[in-house]
Amino acid sequence: MAFWNRKKIESPSDDVSQDIPDKPAILLDKEQRAKSENIPQKRLKIPLNKTTVDVKYVRNTIVFPCPICNEWNTADLSDLDPIMGGDLMCLHCQVMFHIPGGYKTKTELSNLKIYAGLPVAIRKFPIFYWNHPTINELDEQGITGIIIQYGLWGYCQKCHHQFSAAVLMNLPQTAGEVVDYRSLSSDEMVEMKSLRQGSCPYCSHRILLVIISDVPHYVISASENLAHRWEED
Ligand SMILES: [Zn+2]
Ligand SMILES: [Zn+2]
Repeated sequence: MAFWNRKKIESPSDDVSQDIPDKPAILLDKEQRAKSENIPQKRLKIPLNKTTVDVKYVRNTIVFPCPICNEWNTADLSDLDPIMGGDLMCLHCQVMFHIPGGYKTKTELSNLKIYAGLPVAIRKFPIFYWNHPTINELDEQGITGIIIQYGLWGYCQKCHHQFSAAVLMNLPQTAGEVVDYRSLSSDEMVEMKSLRQGSCPYCSHRILLVIISDVPHYVISASENLAHRWEED
């Protein structure tokens, strides 16, 4: 899917969703109180992606050790998008990597890392996502929308199918939650239905390789520039 075409699925705003409370009232009350009194909510501690900063330039490539198995991998710089970067599979242990585009343009190099996927059971993905410190930071900055475009990648651990970020971020936390399927493409609908059952639609595997990365400044400004272009008359 084209990068800028990724979209956020609006949660249903009509009263259908209110018919099915997904949290006990007492918990809702506690959360609301925490929010209004500005008390930080207690969050689950979750494992984070393993990364490497040990990246060396060799002619038109970068070489780096896999953060999982330590074997060397090579990425061709011409395969990286300057903003979106690229993904690559470890030749040795088959984990997926995210390589930021800044390695190609040599932008913000001191802040960049190469990320390796983390196995997360599909069933546990929403809990993982909503407790992730990067997601919470973006939330505090009021720019969670950027994650639809950059910062979240999910692959089937077995067949390496890449799932839509819009589907992943909209996966409901409970079975009873209402999902508005109308805003999904037909491919995304297939993904959503299968992931809600806890399995990959193509191979039935039940574990994702998930990457949630920091969002570099050059990605944020590229996204803002694009927004401004649309505002111009
Ligand atoms: Zn590896
Ligand atoms: Zn699969």
